[in-house]
Amino acid sequence: MNYDVIIIGAGPGGIFAAYELMQCKPHMKVAVFEAGHSLEKRHCPIDGKKIKTCIGCKSCSIMSGFGGAGAFSDGKYNITNDFGGTLFEYIGKKPALELMHYVDEINMRYGGEGTKLYSTAGTKFKKLCIQNDLHLLDASVRHLGTDINYVVLENLYNYLKDKVDFFFDCPVETVVKTESGYEVNCKDGVYTCHKCVISVGRIGSKWMEKVCKDLEIPTKSNRVDLGVRVELPAEVFSHLTDELYESKIVYRTQKYGDKVRTFCMNPKGAVVNENTNGIITVNGHSYEDPAMQTGNTNFALLVSKHFSEPFKDSNGYGESIARLSNMLGGGVIVQRFGDLIRGRRSTPKRMEDSFFTPTLNATPGDLSLVLPKRILDGIIEMIYALDKVAPGTANDDTLLYGVEVKFYNMEVEVDEKLMSRHEGLYIIGDGSGITHSLSHASASGVHVARDIAEN
Ligand SMILES: Cc1cc2nc3c(=O)[nH]c(=O)nc-3n(C[C@H](O)[C@H](O)[C@H](O)COP(=O)(O)OP(=O)(O)OC[C@H]3O[C@@H](n4cnc5c(N)ncnc54)[C@H](O)[C@@H]3O)c2cc1C
Repeated sequence: MNYDVIIIGAGPGGIFAAYELMQCKPHMKVAVFEAGHSLEKRHCPIDGKKIKTCIGCKSCSIMSGFGGAGAFSDGKYNITNDFGGTLFEYIGKKPALELMHYVDEINMRYGGEGTKLYSTAGTKFKKLCIQNDLHLLDASVRHLGTDINYVVLENLYNYLKDKVDFFFDCPVETVVKTESGYEVNCKDGVYTCHKCVISVGRIGSKWMEKVCKDLEIPTKSNRVDLGVRVELPAEVFSHLTDELYESKIVYRTQKYGDKVRTFCMNPKGAVVNENTNGIITVNGHSYEDPAMQTGNTNFALLVSKHFSEPFKDSNGYGESIARLSNMLGGGVIVQRFGDLIRGRRSTPKRMEDSFFTPTLNATPGDLSLVLPKRILDGIIEMIYALDKVAPGTANDDTLLYGVEVKFYNMEVEVDEKLMSRHEGLYIIGDGSGITHSLSHASASGVHVARDIAEN
């Protein structure tokens, strides 16, 4: 079957590439191949009763399927060049921001209207942070919430389904360069196209590596982010979260000069398990609907590590630390801050004596046996620094869940069009190692679609 364009992966990058192609060239023949299920068939079997832990489904519904890794996420679209990826290094700061605003407009048109756009512009917290050696990054944040994010995806699919051919449960095995374009091979057939957009996200990292090897596309190793997820009563951060929703704060430790940063803040949210290639790590989300909110706020504290010589495998390093926590705790470990600084493990009894209730059922344990000293020291220092702008952060009952790991794909060599060294082969989204967020991945999809339409 012949197509003008084949898109591999139906995460935000792939969806927005398809959407923009249909806006610019409605008659183009476009197909989207997705390894996971269609949106309505995406269900994680873990129900906390019959199935308590990951059973290793063939296709993980949390990470794969229409909507990609972000489908059940908090739906925080950060409109900024300060974090979430380095798209601006390829296409320029202004165009990158314009594309992110454009994506936001589409999300509003497809079900997101009425959701709140928060901004750090003119906030008093910037000064308060600097006075305490903390640095608040600039951003506007559209918070769709897990519920509305799903509605937007449903509406985008309904718009696209009659215009684009979707192939679900159809992992692409190989991409082969031909004289007139590309051959895309799946188990059930061979499809050809003039242009090919690869947007396979983090879950497609190993496959992406293989494609780059086969097609001799240069790559660079990327960093890994390691740390914990902090959970505390929502009141502790409410002055920040009510105004900004999410505050990205960076701190440079006095002991080692390492940077520790807050990440993925979920006011009145829940801490959740995340499964990456069978390793259980921790994440968090929150709902827009007040009925589904909790009394706690959670956020990650992360430290970046980048290995280059002689050991290059930053992700492998992160994976083995996460495996260690799984070995000791059978999954995610939780520890009270008070226990951590007293050098003792948390126990079920100590957890019961706490003044607030955790949102995730994790194993009480000792994170100092899991995280390298340097990383843990940095996190402890940051908690004391945050305590100055949000008193209560360093309370004994503050919970630390570990480990939180953010894996990044290796960075693929592409040009300002996000095209690889092969004419007409684009590599976008988190799979390219360039983006790490919903807004940047979506913007990269729009960018390549416009380039394809123009040419
Ligand atoms: C729990 C969670 C919460 C998150 N919350 C946020 C948030 O609030 N804000 C934010 O900015 N970011 C968030 N993120 C990150 C965000 O989801 C990603 O940055 C974003 O989804 C990347 O989009 P993408 O299109 O590049 O890749 P993905 O969304 O990962 O999509 C890639 C798709 O490609 C498919 N695929 C892979 N290999 C193949 C193949 N060989 N053939 C066919 N299909 C293939 C996969 O099945 C997948 O569906 C979160 C991530 C997780 C896991």
